[in-house]
Amino acid sequence: MPAVSRSKLALMTWNALREAFPDSACSLDSDLPERLAVRGILSAQCTDKRVNLTSKELFEKFPDMISIANASDEEIKALIKPCGLTGSKTASVKDFASNFVGNWGGKIPEDPNELMKVRGIGRKIANLIVGEIYGIPAVVVDTHCKRVMGRIGITDSSDPAHVEKDIMKVFDKDKWIAIGHLSVDLGRSYCKAQSPDCGACPLAGFCRRRI
Ligand code: SF4
Repeated sequence: MPAVSRSKLALMTWNALREAFPDSACSLDSDLPERLAVRGILSAQCTDKRVNLTSKELFEKFPDMISIANASDEEIKALIKPCGLTGSKTASVKDFASNFVGNWGGKIPEDPNELMKVRGIGRKIANLIVGEIYGIPAVVVDTHCKRVMGRIGITDSSDPAHVEKDIMKVFDKDKWIAIGHLSVDLGRSYCKAQSPDCGACPLAGFCRRRI
């Protein structure tokens, strides 16, 4: 196949992924915006499945941000332990809850930069929160997204901030939220870190690693 521009590659990628994963969506539970944000914090280096299970127990005991802000570190740590990085995630969850009930008046900010003032919330989580809660166009570059975009040929970088910019250059703004979810779907099903299943992959016809 002759070399194609990244814009053309992005379009082919979008079409193939939409067809392969028509029901693609965020896999974190999202009953309340602030709970989704807490799950986003817990999701660092942890599977969404585990986060959903663990947060269920957390919210049974501490159902709102006031109760989380007032809980002791030890109580939060014990509940979120299965998600790993317990100390830093406890500090981050409590800082988020304190900001939510104090500085933000019970409403999550729409500005990712404001969210990034919370301990432990980086660009990926901030983008996830504003994208899922407000539909604000933002690309979430997680480990799957970074890997598959590199393999396909959308980016040559492994730096998440650079990958995000490369994606934003070639995918229309209204696709930024969905392309993150679709990348996760592809990464979980075909384009796994070890032994990608290129033979069955819907992108095999144009992926630069495959061809
Ligand atoms: S063809 Fe292979 S390397 Fe390319 S996206 Fe599909 S699984 Fe990944």
